[in-house]
Amino acid sequence: MSGKLIVGNWKMNGSLAANQELVRAVTTGLGTATCKVAVCAPAVYLLQLQQLAAGSQLMWGAQDISAHEQGAYTGELSAAMLREFGVRFAIVGHSERRQYHGETDAVVATKAQRALAAGITPIVCVGESLAERETGHTEEVVKRQLAAVIHTNGHCISEIVVAYEPVWAIGTGKTASPEQAQQVHALLRAQLKAATEHPERIALLYGGSMNAANAASLLAQNDIDGGLIGGASLKSTDFLSIVAAASH
Ligand code: PEP
Repeated sequence: MSGKLIVGNWKMNGSLAANQELVRAVTTGLGTATCKVAVCAPAVYLLQLQQLAAGSQLMWGAQDISAHEQGAYTGELSAAMLREFGVRFAIVGHSERRQYHGETDAVVATKAQRALAAGITPIVCVGESLAERETGHTEEVVKRQLAAVIHTNGHCISEIVVAYEPVWAIGTGKTASPEQAQQVHALLRAQLKAATEHPERIALLYGGSMNAANAASLLAQNDIDGGLIGGASLKSTDFLSIVAAASH
């Protein structure tokens, strides 16, 4: 893909007032950024984002999407509904959803499929736990998670974004070293190359305690096309520093 992609994941944070300040600062600060930038907000704030970010280069997305098309699924939000609010991206399979909401590889794959069918780019998260890394299972875990999405989505796979997010690095302040991240990204890249004629369209993001200080060295790696940023996306100065590092 051309140009890096930086995506903020606000998680369950924000308020109408705080979002307004944050989005104003980010859209103003984007200036001449040459990378693509998006934020994934809690769904109740998507209308606000649509209004605040209109006309700017900031794109927005959802943090989840239903695996169902429509119907009796209380509390769920369909891809078509999200699309009405200008959503360009939907995170699927974030480790917090896999862990706290029991999302399986199959559910994640179906969510990606629903997003794609509605013209929304799924940001498919994969990543190993600390125990899995320490017992040498990183490769097996991330390949299994991605294989489910490849299997379900066939030739559409070139339209997804993949985020490698080692679970042990999310919100912990522990970042994968650039070499550790690159090693896994290279594996995922090879897996995607075998699955599509257009692997170059797929952005591979790194996520896990990326911040203003470590972004440049992570983003300098061959197979790291951008970042999925949690905590540091909530402060405009930190987020904009990462955007600046991705714009070189
Ligand atoms: C995330 O939640 O996707 C994430 C990467 O969080 P953090 O940057 O806070 O580790």
